[in-house]
Order: sequence, then structure tokens, then C-alpha cells
Amino acid sequence: MADLRVGVLALQGDFEAHAKTLRALGAEPREVRTPAQMEGLDALVIPGGESTTIGKQISSAGLETALRAHHEAGRPILGTCAGLIVCDAEHLGFIDAVAKRNAFGRQLQSFEADIEVEGAGDEPLRAVFIRAPWVESHGEGVEVLASYDGHPVAIREGSVLACAFHPELTDDPRFHAIFMAMTTAARERAGEEARR
Ligand code: GLN
Repeated sequence: MADLRVGVLALQGDFEAHAKTLRALGAEPREVRTPAQMEGLDALVIPGGESTTIGKQISSAGLETALRAHHEAGRPILGTCAGLIVCDAEHLGFIDAVAKRNAFGRQLQSFEADIEVEGAGDEPLRAVFIRAPWVESHGEGVEVLASYDGHPVAIREGSVLACAFHPELTDDPRFHAIFMAMTTAARERAGEEARR
């Protein structure tokens, strides 16, 4: 679907790479720094960076209420790396999972791996991990889309998709394509409800 407006939280971290991937998929990315910029979005990306900093900046920008309203309206959210942590049950609580920060330890701070991702087709996806978290625990309603070394690294619950790696740092748009399919479906649902 054309004209999907996808906000990218642009407080800190690698938001520009997300915008580029979203644009390549035909969406209209918009940088979000204020509550007013959350208006009219079909979906939102919370990028990687440093989760403590992003959390503090969400508070100081007064964005928490708008983020919660977006989530409650069923509009999709993609959290990547630090964004996964920000969405977890110990932070904004958008997904019933607890992330473990910097989980891969010192030797394996940053690395790349080919992983199989449910919904991304048969070809493995090259995943870039940078001081990545993994999912330490999750509720029954959470689907695990990918694991690495026995730990979930991509999960979905309802309208929230999250991954521990950086899908915006490769030329492979398949992970964002999963998110865009969720966004198209959510917008169609919202349109049907409005027509009722
Ligand atoms: N280690 C960071 C954190 O804990 C996340 C790293 C990233 O987003 N690349 O917030």
C-alpha cells in the first residue's frame, strides 16, 4: 500500500538508516522528535542506540503519552536493538518480554550472523548485532520469529515487532517488509472500523 506514513523516533541512534530502508519499500518516513510529529502516523520505528538515553529523552520530550496512544490504537511499532529494550516489559511495556542488555558478552560485542527469520522466506537473513540484547523471557502470547545461540532475537506480539539486531544496516529489506505488511494490515483494519 502506498503512502504509509512511518515515524522514526529520531532522538538518538541510527534513525537515518531506517528512513532509507522504509523509503526503499515505498513508505514515507518521518522523523519524530515531538508529540505533534506522532500525529497521523501509521506506524513507528524505535531505533537502536542507547536504551537508557532513549528512555530519558522520551520522557524529556514529553513523548510517552503519544507513544502509548499510538500503541493502544493498534498502530504497529518496530523496536530494534535498544528499541527492543525500550519496548520491553521493564520499560514501556509494549511487549510481554524482558530483554537482557549487552547479552552476548565482551568477546561477542559486535558480530554478524546469518539467521532464519519466520516470515522472511527461506534465505537466511544477515543480522548485524551491536552490543545487542537478547530476549531473556517472554509471555505465551509472544511469537519468536528468530533465535540465535538459543536465545530469541526477533519477536512479535500483536502490533509490536522487535529485534535485537540492526535490520537497517544491511541492504536486505526483508525484516522491514514484515513490518510494512503489519502496517498495511493495521491500516486496512482501521479503515474498515471507520466505515462501520
Ligand atoms: N547496548 C545498547 C543498550 O543497551 C543497545 C545497542 C544498540 O542499540 N546497538 O541500550
